[in-house]
Amino acid sequence: MSDSKLIEARPNVRQIKPYSPGKPIWEVKRELGLEEVVKLASNENPLGPSPKAVEAIIRSLSELHRYPDVLASELKQELARRLGLSERELIVTNGADELITLISETYLEPGDDIVIPAPVFGEYEFGAKLMGANVKAVPLEPGFGYDVSRLLAAVTPRTKLLYLCSPHNPAGTYLPAKELDRLLAALPEKVLLVLDAAYSHYATAEDYTDGLEHVRAGRQVLVLQTFSKIYGLAGIRVGFGAAPAAVIESILKVKEPFNVNALAQAAAAAALADEAHLEASRRLNTAGREQLYAAFRKLGIPYTESMSNFVLCQPGPAADSIAAQLLSRGIIVRSGGTWGLPEHIRVSVGTAEENDKFIRALDEIMSLNDLERRPEASQSAGQ
Ligand SMILES: *Cc1c(COP(=O)(O)O)cnc(C)c1O
Repeated sequence: MSDSKLIEARPNVRQIKPYSPGKPIWEVKRELGLEEVVKLASNENPLGPSPKAVEAIIRSLSELHRYPDVLASELKQELARRLGLSERELIVTNGADELITLISETYLEPGDDIVIPAPVFGEYEFGAKLMGANVKAVPLEPGFGYDVSRLLAAVTPRTKLLYLCSPHNPAGTYLPAKELDRLLAALPEKVLLVLDAAYSHYATAEDYTDGLEHVRAGRQVLVLQTFSKIYGLAGIRVGFGAAPAAVIESILKVKEPFNVNALAQAAAAAALADEAHLEASRRLNTAGREQLYAAFRKLGIPYTESMSNFVLCQPGPAADSIAAQLLSRGIIVRSGGTWGLPEHIRVSVGTAEENDKFIRALDEIMSLNDLERRPEASQSAGQ
């Protein structure tokens, strides 16, 4: 298999499985000859970017011959002011994905451990593999809630990072504020808690927290956020992290100087200021979740209540086939197989019209396949 004459990638790199993205709209259109395609696979904002962000990008275009600001100062100032943090407690990155890689490069050595929930968003494991660190995966409870005691029990003297994702991708569940307090109180000081709050703006539960109060209190927590989801800027790549100044200082040493392009910096600052767009996006999402829940109940498909902009449902063993049939009708969703959940499908919340198209197609597919409906289908305990 390996030809000794050819250069080989590091063993760690050979182990890494390539990322499998949701199919892009253009590809589905071309493959199936469809005019219209609804993408509910990548948790993007169905309202699009803030018009203010688009204007800011256009205004910045004539300055493209200049290198961007190494520290993204203007955006950082704006973030610091809004979040009640100092600029020294913030780092801006080329999407939150880049930040996960930077955290891994800063803290992980071969033989170190990271603790992650399972299933979960794949980038934490990617960062660990890249650095030759081990992954301790702690299963979520049935219903996809966190079990804090089990997470703590997985921590060893070699553990450097403990990742939480709240709201959780792909389940939409969350870690209540009190549970986060309990976890932090018991976590050894040598471990950095990374709280991925990519979907925090969609959470409506009273006891949800994005964890920033712990950063304000100087605790060893890094909160990760992105402009790709509710801010509608996935295509331009910008995210940020908030953590104690000493943590940020270390990560900044690893970051490439010009990691966030000038258009992204301008767009993100403008998006932050567009509170009307943020609020409209949140409202559309909360209503969309209800629309999907109602449909799942009617179709007898169990689902997990979501604090995010997607819903994980469990059509059963036919899930993969249902996803394929949805695709042939021009509706792109995510099969749960990616996360080792072969009976599940994750569907992003779209506009009311997009949700409706998904629901009607799903209804039709269930009837055509004569799939058993479970009118008693209980919704999983989603906390
Ligand atoms: C989308 C997502 C991110 C970050 O996305 P970027 O586009 O790289 O900013 C981080 N964590 C989770 C759980 C996500 O779903």
